[in-house]
Amino acid sequence: MKWDIVIGLEIHAQLNTKSKLFCSCATSFGEEANKNTCPVCLGYPGALPVINKGAFEKAILIAHALHCKISESIHFDRKNYFYPDSPRAYQITQFYKPIGQNGYLNIDFEQNGKIESKKISIRELHLEDDAGKLIHNPQKNESYIDLNRAGTPLVEIVSGPDLSSPSHALIYFKKVKSILEYIGVSDCNMERGDLRCDANISLKPEGSQTLGKRCEIKNMNTFKGLQMALEYEISRQKKILESGEILLSQTMTFDPLTFKTSPLREKEEASGYRYHPENDLPPFQLETSFVENVKQKLPELPDAKKQRFMNSYGLSDYDAGSLTSSKKMALFFEEAVQIYNKDPKKICNWMMAELSSLLNEENLEIDEISIKPKHIANLVQLINENKITGKMAKEIFPTMAKSGQYPLEIIEKVGMKTIDDENELRKFVDKVLEANPKTIEQYKAGETKVLGFLVGQVMKESKGQANPSSLNKILIEKLKS
Ligand code: ADP
Ligand code: MG
Ligand code: ZN
Repeated sequence: MKWDIVIGLEIHAQLNTKSKLFCSCATSFGEEANKNTCPVCLGYPGALPVINKGAFEKAILIAHALHCKISESIHFDRKNYFYPDSPRAYQITQFYKPIGQNGYLNIDFEQNGKIESKKISIRELHLEDDAGKLIHNPQKNESYIDLNRAGTPLVEIVSGPDLSSPSHALIYFKKVKSILEYIGVSDCNMERGDLRCDANISLKPEGSQTLGKRCEIKNMNTFKGLQMALEYEISRQKKILESGEILLSQTMTFDPLTFKTSPLREKEEASGYRYHPENDLPPFQLETSFVENVKQKLPELPDAKKQRFMNSYGLSDYDAGSLTSSKKMALFFEEAVQIYNKDPKKICNWMMAELSSLLNEENLEIDEISIKPKHIANLVQLINENKITGKMAKEIFPTMAKSGQYPLEIIEKVGMKTIDDENELRKFVDKVLEANPKTIEQYKAGETKVLGFLVGQVMKESKGQANPSSLNKILIEKLKS
């Protein structure tokens, strides 16, 4: 039987405000346990919450970036549950009136060699406070509570059930991350848990209009984990449905070591949380002028930047999309192009190939290595001016990454030779021409593009050391004679 996959994500992102959502405690990470706490975030009786304006500004920016309608009348609600990491025994959230509603985000993906786009609806975006952390010590059979995180502002971004495969879910999650980074409202450090998501997933018979029963996989903070969890869950649900058994609507946990999901509990109903208005924070109105002012601060976002890169630098949809998917990459690229503006495409190529694979290998971010935009700009310029060969550039690339030296410095230091001597070059050229009489005929018949092939052959003969500009000159001279 054929099934349609239906996925909806609930993404939680910690906002990088200096203080917490309802008190003035710091949000700094890595402090001594329970240092960043006060009567409000410790849930002492009688301690009253006060709203953090900065968190509202950030939530409004995100809501606007995700094309949400922003509700100006604000109130919060209590979500009641007991767990030791939440001393109040309720979370303060926006259940009845999320600050953002009915938005969307377009995702791009490759299908049959073409780039396709799909609109993913965003049901809502709301503000809420985070819980503390439990640290378990199984050896001693003890658990500890650290409430430094309790009260940190979070936004939860809830998509519609519009994602139809694990890879689309991944693209969507990455795009939300990239937008948060562009706006600068969250550090998005996934290892630290700044950004995590719950994935809801169900199957339905292909083409059916009714949604199937879903499971919700809790709290994933790696892209790989999300993908593996969804894939595992698809095959698990398929097996159950195809065997005629009943699929239970459950809340699942994902084990990143075995890549398996397993049930935590029956899926809770909203009514179980006895949501009701938070009456320690009376309802209030956001002023329209405040909201409008905040919206003005929204920077250029990935889609707009991508379009501009295509228009201004002549990059393809694919190249512009890859570069702008990361704010840091996009900034790096534009800086390099400002230094050397004659060949944006080649700068992009060096970034997407050599530079990206180096970053992948070393598991580093682009601002953590010694290569700066000026180095890539310089490298491409030297290649284009025939001062170094592409092969040499590739060879010195890792050294450049480690040392931050300019290409010519490295070439000099390692004594990499270029053969400039014309007599020596002529020998290579003669040898190649002798071996390729047909190509010479093609060239003479007007197929000048074969020149590239001949240059390549001479380079090979000279082990990549021929000075490209002298070589070109000699080759053309010979071909014309
Ligand atoms: P909950 O109260 O459990 O949080 P919501 O209705 O708020 O449930 O939906 C949470 C998420 O689950 C949303 O992202 C939504 O798109 C997704 N979702 C809802 N129904 C389904 C379904 N049948 N299959 C997959 N995802 C679903
Ligand atoms: Mg939910
Ligand atoms: Zn506090």
